[in-house]
Amino acid sequence: MAEMTDTSEFDSHLFRTALVQLDRVAARLNLDPNIHERLRHPRRALVVSVPVRMDSKDIKVFRGYRVQHSTVLGPTKGGLRYDADVNLGEVTALAMLMSWKCALVGLPYGGAKGGVRCNPRAMSVTEREHLTRRYTAEIMLVIGPDHDIPAPDLGTDEQTMAWMMDTYSMTQGKTVPGIVTGKPLIVGGSAGRREATGRGIVYALYQAARHLQPLRGQRVIVQGFGNVGSVAARLLWREGCVIVGVSDVKGGILNPHGIDIRQLEAHVAETGSVVGFPGTEPVSNAELLEQPCDILLPAATGSQIHADNADRIKATIVVEGANGPTTPEADVILRDRGVTVIPDILANAGGVIVSYFEWVQGLQYYFWRESEITTRLQEIMTRAFNRVWALAAKEGTDLRTAALMEGVRRVAEGYRVRGFYP
Ligand code: NAD
Repeated sequence: MAEMTDTSEFDSHLFRTALVQLDRVAARLNLDPNIHERLRHPRRALVVSVPVRMDSKDIKVFRGYRVQHSTVLGPTKGGLRYDADVNLGEVTALAMLMSWKCALVGLPYGGAKGGVRCNPRAMSVTEREHLTRRYTAEIMLVIGPDHDIPAPDLGTDEQTMAWMMDTYSMTQGKTVPGIVTGKPLIVGGSAGRREATGRGIVYALYQAARHLQPLRGQRVIVQGFGNVGSVAARLLWREGCVIVGVSDVKGGILNPHGIDIRQLEAHVAETGSVVGFPGTEPVSNAELLEQPCDILLPAATGSQIHADNADRIKATIVVEGANGPTTPEADVILRDRGVTVIPDILANAGGVIVSYFEWVQGLQYYFWRESEITTRLQEIMTRAFNRVWALAAKEGTDLRTAALMEGVRRVAEGYRVRGFYP
């Protein structure tokens, strides 16, 4: 293998994990060492300072990032994250994962990711708007509807995307709906985008259920009750699953007899948290993951299942709504214990799939019915799941390795036919 060049600027736990995964898969695929070397590096990484006048009238300067991993299969696509832990390495790793994810499900995109290191919950709406508009202005150089198309992620939402689209459009003298996805419906959003990631998780679980255990009656624990976790919890609850535990950043709740998700949503709308929901016991986020259940859905942040708690996870299926919720050490422990892990790049791909639908609709100014969107989403998720399942069986490996093999192989094939520059 060619000697690998330095990637230390991107050093972070998640980036090291992403490289280890890539290197293992490259060895299994017997990848051309030159293509392997190219895949280990992002194409572009932009670091910006984002000055914001806070409500106190003081200026605070935030650090922002936009990283584009590969443009070999098309423009880049990936979410924007507002979180106190954001750093260049994390954003780069997430951009790389987006490359594999888009290729795995057959979208004409490369991977990107953005982030601003901040605590959005401690900021007012006005402060978040100023932050978003200034960040958008700073990354304007590298984004565009044919270049790189942001979307919501941890700590950002439809409103964030509306501000981004508006800021970008102001500089163009016209409205440019294709610049972001995950927008509100009224300004060119897509039916079904808000539910897409949660719904995709359920479609993946339908397929897993065919091979493993029927969904009805399964006990489910959901960590994170935001866009991804709350939608998945509601759909699984409607499927007849028993949701025995839920958490958010403020803490968790448990009821072994099941939690009424509709009532929980009303409680969250009123109080801002799942904590204190009547009829449940309080539990910490760490304890929640180890409670008895059949399906565990981490849908919050990375590295939640690690070497110190993996052997106490009771679930037989872990379906990764979050990006990178399981460390490589924990992955080995879960595999040895016979736990099926449906990996992030497969399980949570519904979000980018419907983002792709939104982008296509925006470019054509022609909008589809929600039923068309969910049907096409289900088709793509089902095809991707079954391809990964079959490859895992053929290679005698776990689903994560198979999903990465398929995603990396397709990106590598793009470089083989095009050359090394994109
Ligand atoms: P969100 O901001 O809407 O919700 C995040 C939820 O997790 C909130 O309930 C928050 O309180 C909770 N949370 C945050 N930190 C936590 C912690 N340390 N412990 C427990 N709970 C915590 O974000 P989201 O869009 O639902 O994204 C969640 C995860 O899913 C992220 O890892 C994201 O990268 C991934 N993801 C999101 C999408 C999407 O379409 N939104 C698509 C693919 C992957």
